[in-house]
Amino acid sequence: MAYLSVLMPMEQAVCLQATLRRDADSLIATGDSGGRTRNQLMADLLFDRGTGASVASGVPVAVNLVISDEALLAGENEAADVAGFGPVPAGIARQLVANALDGDTAVTLRNVYSCPLSGALTAMESQSRAFPKGLRTLIDLRDRTCRTPWCDAPIRHHDHILSRRNKGATTAHNGAGLCAACNYAKEGDGWTARPVRRHGRTHLFDLGTPTGHHYRSAAPRLPSAARRSEIEAILIAHLRAS
Ligand SMILES: [Zn+2]
Repeated sequence: MAYLSVLMPMEQAVCLQATLRRDADSLIATGDSGGRTRNQLMADLLFDRGTGASVASGVPVAVNLVISDEALLAGENEAADVAGFGPVPAGIARQLVANALDGDTAVTLRNVYSCPLSGALTAMESQSRAFPKGLRTLIDLRDRTCRTPWCDAPIRHHDHILSRRNKGATTAHNGAGLCAACNYAKEGDGWTARPVRRHGRTHLFDLGTPTGHHYRSAAPRLPSAARRSEIEAILIAHLRAS
Protein backbone atom coordinates (compact mmCIF):
# COMPACT_ATOMS: atom_id res chain seq x y z
CA MET A 1 0.00 0.00 0.00
CA ALA A 2 1.16 3.57 -0.58
CA TYR A 3 0.08 7.14 0.13
CA LEU A 4 -0.68 9.58 -2.68
CA SER A 5 -0.39 13.26 -1.69
CA VAL A 6 -1.53 16.12 -3.88
CA LEU A 7 -0.81 19.83 -3.40
CA MET A 8 -3.69 21.72 -5.03
CA PRO A 9 -5.90 24.78 -4.44
CA MET A 10 -7.78 24.33 -1.18
CA GLU A 11 -11.30 24.73 -2.69
CA GLN A 12 -10.54 22.08 -5.33
CA ALA A 13 -9.23 19.70 -2.65
CA VAL A 14 -12.40 20.14 -0.56
CA CYS A 15 -14.56 19.68 -3.66
CA LEU A 16 -12.63 16.52 -4.68
CA GLN A 17 -12.94 14.96 -1.24
CA ALA A 18 -16.65 15.84 -1.01
CA THR A 19 -17.29 14.28 -4.45
CA LEU A 20 -15.50 11.03 -3.55
CA ARG A 21 -17.27 10.83 -0.18
CA ARG A 22 -20.68 11.49 -1.74
CA ASP A 23 -20.23 8.82 -4.41
CA ALA A 24 -18.82 6.31 -1.91
CA ASP A 25 -21.85 6.91 0.35
CA SER A 26 -24.08 6.43 -2.70
CA LEU A 27 -22.50 3.02 -3.44
CA ILE A 28 -22.94 1.98 0.22
CA ALA A 29 -26.58 3.13 0.22
CA THR A 30 -27.42 1.18 -2.97
CA GLY A 31 -25.66 -1.98 -1.73
CA ASP A 32 -22.98 -1.82 -4.45
CA SER A 33 -20.03 -1.39 -2.09
CA GLY A 34 -18.90 -5.01 -2.44
CA GLY A 35 -18.06 -5.12 1.27
CA ARG A 36 -15.60 -2.25 0.99
CA THR A 37 -15.44 0.54 3.59
CA ARG A 38 -16.13 4.17 2.70
CA ASN A 39 -12.41 5.00 2.62
CA GLN A 40 -11.66 1.98 0.40
CA LEU A 41 -14.44 3.03 -1.96
CA MET A 42 -13.09 6.58 -2.08
CA ALA A 43 -9.61 5.28 -2.98
CA ASP A 44 -11.05 2.99 -5.67
CA LEU A 45 -13.13 5.83 -7.14
CA LEU A 46 -10.05 8.09 -7.19
CA PHE A 47 -8.08 5.40 -9.06
CA ASP A 48 -10.90 4.73 -11.54
CA ARG A 49 -11.31 8.39 -12.37
CA GLY A 50 -7.61 9.21 -12.40
CA THR A 51 -6.88 6.41 -14.87
CA GLY A 52 -10.03 6.95 -16.94
CA ALA A 53 -11.42 3.53 -16.08
CA SER A 54 -14.81 5.08 -15.43
CA VAL A 55 -16.39 8.44 -16.05
CA ALA A 56 -17.14 10.87 -13.24
CA SER A 57 -20.79 11.76 -12.94
CA GLY A 58 -20.10 15.47 -13.29
CA VAL A 59 -22.80 16.44 -10.81
CA PRO A 60 -21.72 19.66 -9.10
CA VAL A 61 -20.70 19.61 -5.45
CA ALA A 62 -21.13 22.70 -3.27
CA VAL A 63 -18.19 24.19 -1.37
CA ASN A 64 -19.69 26.14 1.52
CA LEU A 65 -17.90 29.32 2.55
CA VAL A 66 -19.24 31.06 5.65
CA ILE A 67 -18.19 34.69 5.83
CA SER A 68 -19.61 37.76 7.56
CA ASP A 69 -21.22 40.40 5.34
CA GLU A 70 -18.72 43.00 6.54
CA ALA A 71 -15.74 40.75 5.74
CA LEU A 72 -17.19 39.99 2.29
CA LEU A 73 -18.33 43.47 1.30
CA ALA A 74 -16.64 46.03 3.55
CA GLY A 75 -13.08 44.76 3.80
CA GLU A 76 -13.23 43.64 7.44
CA ASN A 77 -10.67 41.05 8.61
CA GLU A 78 -12.83 38.48 10.46
CA ALA A 79 -11.77 34.99 9.32
CA ALA A 80 -14.22 33.00 7.17
CA ASP A 81 -14.82 29.24 7.41
CA VAL A 82 -14.77 26.64 4.63
CA ALA A 83 -16.93 23.61 5.51
CA GLY A 84 -14.71 20.52 5.56
CA PHE A 85 -11.50 22.56 5.86
CA GLY A 86 -11.66 25.18 8.63
CA PRO A 87 -10.96 28.90 9.01
CA VAL A 88 -9.38 30.88 6.16
CA PRO A 89 -8.24 34.54 6.23
CA ALA A 90 -10.83 37.06 5.02
CA GLY A 91 -8.63 38.18 2.09
CA ILE A 92 -8.33 34.62 0.75
CA ALA A 93 -12.08 34.08 1.19
CA ARG A 94 -12.83 37.23 -0.81
CA GLN A 95 -10.40 36.04 -3.52
CA LEU A 96 -12.17 32.65 -3.66
CA VAL A 97 -15.50 34.40 -4.23
CA ALA A 98 -13.98 36.72 -6.85
CA ASN A 99 -12.36 33.79 -8.70
CA ALA A 100 -15.62 31.86 -8.70
CA LEU A 101 -17.51 34.89 -10.04
CA ASP A 102 -14.91 35.42 -12.78
CA GLY A 103 -14.97 31.76 -13.88
CA ASP A 104 -17.74 29.41 -15.01
CA THR A 105 -18.45 28.24 -11.46
CA ALA A 106 -22.05 28.64 -10.30
CA VAL A 107 -22.07 30.90 -7.22
CA THR A 108 -25.05 31.16 -4.88
CA LEU A 109 -25.44 33.30 -1.78
CA ARG A 110 -27.35 32.00 1.25
CA ASN A 111 -28.20 34.38 4.09
CA VAL A 112 -27.32 32.89 7.49
CA TYR A 113 -28.38 35.12 10.37
CA SER A 114 -26.49 35.13 13.65
CA CYS A 115 -26.69 37.05 16.91
CA PRO A 116 -24.16 39.92 16.61
CA LEU A 117 -22.97 39.45 20.21
CA SER A 118 -22.76 35.67 20.55
CA GLY A 119 -22.41 34.51 16.94
CA ALA A 120 -25.26 32.00 17.59
CA LEU A 121 -27.09 30.76 14.49
CA THR A 122 -30.79 31.51 13.93
CA ALA A 123 -32.98 28.38 14.23
CA MET A 124 -35.23 26.67 11.68
CA GLU A 125 -37.99 24.13 12.35
CA SER A 126 -39.45 21.13 10.50
CA GLN A 127 -42.30 18.66 11.09
CA SER A 128 -40.57 15.71 9.41
CA ARG A 129 -38.80 12.86 11.24
CA ALA A 130 -35.67 13.17 9.10
CA PHE A 131 -33.81 16.45 8.88
CA PRO A 132 -34.67 18.13 5.53
CA LYS A 133 -31.81 19.26 3.32
CA GLY A 134 -31.97 22.93 4.32
CA LEU A 135 -31.87 22.05 8.01
CA ARG A 136 -28.99 19.59 7.46
CA THR A 137 -27.05 22.33 5.69
CA LEU A 138 -27.75 24.73 8.54
CA ILE A 139 -26.50 22.18 11.11
CA ASP A 140 -23.38 21.51 8.98
CA LEU A 141 -22.61 25.23 8.83
CA ARG A 142 -23.29 25.71 12.54
CA ASP A 143 -21.44 22.67 13.94
CA ARG A 144 -18.69 22.22 11.28
CA THR A 145 -17.37 18.99 12.89
CA CYS A 146 -18.72 16.22 15.17
CA ARG A 147 -20.18 17.86 18.28
CA THR A 148 -19.09 15.17 20.76
CA PRO A 149 -16.55 16.84 23.07
CA TRP A 150 -12.95 16.19 21.97
CA CYS A 151 -14.05 14.60 18.66
CA ASP A 152 -13.57 16.76 15.59
CA ALA A 153 -14.28 14.11 12.95
CA PRO A 154 -16.30 15.17 9.89
CA ILE A 155 -20.09 15.22 10.30
CA ARG A 156 -21.74 12.08 8.89
CA HIS A 157 -25.09 11.98 10.70
CA HIS A 158 -27.65 14.65 11.64
CA ASP A 159 -28.83 13.40 15.00
CA HIS A 160 -31.85 14.17 17.17
CA ILE A 161 -30.20 15.11 20.49
CA LEU A 162 -33.40 14.16 22.33
CA SER A 163 -34.45 11.11 20.30
CA ARG A 164 -37.67 10.85 18.30
CA ARG A 165 -38.92 8.07 20.61
CA ASN A 166 -38.62 10.57 23.47
CA LYS A 167 -40.60 13.09 21.42
CA GLY A 168 -37.55 15.08 20.38
CA ALA A 169 -38.41 17.65 17.72
CA THR A 170 -36.80 17.92 14.27
CA THR A 171 -35.34 21.37 14.82
CA ALA A 172 -31.96 23.04 14.69
CA HIS A 173 -32.16 23.34 18.49
CA ASN A 174 -32.64 19.55 18.90
CA GLY A 175 -30.25 18.63 16.09
CA ALA A 176 -26.51 18.05 16.17
CA GLY A 177 -23.94 17.01 13.62
CA LEU A 178 -22.12 13.83 14.72
CA CYS A 179 -19.66 11.40 13.17
CA ALA A 180 -21.02 7.87 12.64
CA ALA A 181 -19.05 6.35 15.56
CA CYS A 182 -20.28 8.95 18.07
CA ASN A 183 -23.87 8.64 16.88
CA TYR A 184 -23.86 4.84 17.29
CA ALA A 185 -22.13 5.11 20.69
CA LYS A 186 -24.72 7.65 21.89
CA GLU A 187 -27.49 5.07 21.29
CA GLY A 188 -25.85 2.67 23.76
CA ASP A 189 -27.07 1.97 27.31
CA GLY A 190 -26.41 4.69 29.87
CA TRP A 191 -25.91 7.57 27.46
CA THR A 192 -28.17 10.62 27.74
CA ALA A 193 -28.38 13.82 25.75
CA ARG A 194 -30.52 16.94 25.92
CA PRO A 195 -30.34 20.34 24.27
CA VAL A 196 -29.81 23.31 26.59
CA ARG A 197 -31.58 26.54 25.73
CA ARG A 198 -29.56 29.69 26.40
CA HIS A 199 -30.56 32.90 24.73
CA GLY A 200 -27.95 35.00 22.99
CA ARG A 201 -25.28 32.26 23.06
CA THR A 202 -24.21 29.58 20.60
CA HIS A 203 -26.05 26.24 20.47
CA LEU A 204 -25.41 23.95 23.47
CA PHE A 205 -26.28 20.40 24.48
CA ASP A 206 -25.54 18.25 27.52
CA LEU A 207 -24.11 14.75 27.04
CA GLY A 208 -24.26 12.21 29.89
CA THR A 209 -21.99 9.14 29.83
CA PRO A 210 -22.61 5.66 31.33
CA THR A 211 -20.19 6.59 34.16
CA GLY A 212 -22.48 9.43 35.25
CA HIS A 213 -20.28 12.25 33.97
CA HIS A 214 -21.83 15.13 32.05
CA TYR A 215 -20.13 17.13 29.32
CA ARG A 216 -21.38 20.19 27.47
CA SER A 217 -20.88 20.77 23.77
CA ALA A 218 -21.13 24.35 22.45
CA ALA A 219 -21.27 25.15 18.73
CA PRO A 220 -18.44 27.40 17.49
CA ARG A 221 -19.12 31.06 16.84
CA LEU A 222 -20.00 32.05 13.29
CA PRO A 223 -17.71 34.59 11.64
CA SER A 224 -18.98 38.06 12.46
CA ALA A 225 -17.65 41.58 12.27
CA ALA A 226 -15.14 42.48 14.95
CA ARG A 227 -16.48 44.98 17.46
CA ARG A 228 -14.45 48.17 17.88
CA SER A 229 -14.07 50.05 21.10
CA GLU A 230 -15.16 53.68 21.23
CA ILE A 231 -11.53 54.85 21.26
CA GLU A 232 -10.71 52.74 18.17
CA ALA A 233 -13.72 54.20 16.32
CA ILE A 234 -12.65 57.77 17.13
CA LEU A 235 -9.06 57.03 16.10
CA ILE A 236 -10.11 55.44 12.78
CA ALA A 237 -12.45 58.39 12.02
CA HIS A 238 -9.59 60.78 12.81
CA LEU A 239 -7.15 58.92 10.54
CA ARG A 240 -9.66 58.79 7.68
CA ALA A 241 -10.33 62.53 8.00
CA SER A 242 -6.63 63.42 7.96
ZN1 LIG B 1 -17.46 12.04 16.80
